[in-house]
Amino acid sequence: MNIHEYQGKQILKSFGVNVQEGIVADTPEQAVEAAKQLKIDYNSDWVVIKAQIHAGGRGKGGGVKLAKNLEEVKQRATDIIGMQLVTPQTGPEGKLVSKILVAQDVYYPGASETKEFYISVLLDRAKGRNIIMYSTEGGMDIEEVAEHTPHLIFKEEIDPKVGLQGFQARKVAFNLGVSGAAHKEMVKFVTALYKAYEATDSSMFEINPVLKTSDDKVIAVDAKVNLDENALFRHPDYAAMRDVTEEDPMEVEASASNLNFVNLDGNVGCMVNGAGLAMATMDIIKLAGGEPANFLDVGGTANAQTVKAAFNIILKDPNVKAILINIFGGIVRCDRVAQGVIDAYKEIGNIPVPIICRLQGTNAEEAKKLIDESGLQVYSAIALKEAADLVTKVLAEQA
Ligand code: GDP
Ligand code: MN
Repeated sequence: MNIHEYQGKQILKSFGVNVQEGIVADTPEQAVEAAKQLKIDYNSDWVVIKAQIHAGGRGKGGGVKLAKNLEEVKQRATDIIGMQLVTPQTGPEGKLVSKILVAQDVYYPGASETKEFYISVLLDRAKGRNIIMYSTEGGMDIEEVAEHTPHLIFKEEIDPKVGLQGFQARKVAFNLGVSGAAHKEMVKFVTALYKAYEATDSSMFEINPVLKTSDDKVIAVDAKVNLDENALFRHPDYAAMRDVTEEDPMEVEASASNLNFVNLDGNVGCMVNGAGLAMATMDIIKLAGGEPANFLDVGGTANAQTVKAAFNIILKDPNVKAILINIFGGIVRCDRVAQGVIDAYKEIGNIPVPIICRLQGTNAEEAKKLIDESGLQVYSAIALKEAADLVTKVLAEQA
């Protein structure tokens, strides 16, 4: 689960990671109040207004703006709140900004140079270990650094038996080229960041940029946090940080009905039990000349309720020209599923697209009979080839 920058910074701060201080606001008036409240103990009176959306590259898209007085705070806040922010990560339609973070300007002049770094902690699935990935080239797209100057990206593997060791944190600071007070600060930063990552059951903490200020503080200017959804039951306070307005509405509805659903952009909706069968079904749709409109795993029990919820979600997609139900009756009996499909169909009323229902397994014959005698616009199939041919046929009829 992704959370906003301001929420990520709250979590970081609670683990002793220094962050760029800020206050979240959803109106220009609140933004002005926030700017007044921010205790400016740095060498700058400026504040920065940052759009809060679940996507990076906000700076490039005009979602990060400096303001040097309260008038400007109000002006920038008015501009940014309500804007449809387009960044390299949002897609061309952009994302609606409804919250901003009013934060201290931390790029003030001072005794030494400011310097931006990149530091992230994430799970390296190939190694089965957490790693700290870091680079001297902060502030810019890490993908670009990886492409053009891969030698400037470092990785530190953490042994799960002993956790992050002191020498590893010092190595990170050393490789980043910070010395003196900043070196100490960096060691502290990395240590606290790793602790935050581990204790929150996160799958990623990406801080870009990490800033060494001109007075040798080390702080998180940005925070991209991905919490492991499977561990959220252990963290109700983090679970409450979920912002469903940032998520695909169809996926939000599906998750409320306990369906594993991913929205795709094809024309054949599918309803399947088991992720493996769902993947195979998507292949079949492609072979039949269609494109899957979604990935949907209804799970172990395919009763009228789950089938109805699944129908309702799939039918929200205007691109759907046909629905393929492909369910294996291993634990669940096919005739039960068939009855579920019929009941759900009747409850919803007129379903505007043809449905192909392939039920195989226990009581497959009985299921086929139920479907065939239902009088509904549902084609039955037992063999996979039959189902695929039916998909091809109904798509051709509509072309
Ligand atoms: P992103 O573009 O979505 O990754 O958002 P960031 O939080 O990383 O901000 C983008 C850029 O804005 C940073 O790389 C900084 O260069 C700049 N920025 C952020 N905070 C400040 C600040 O306090 N002062 C100044 N001058 N620039 C800032
Ligand atoms: Mn950033």
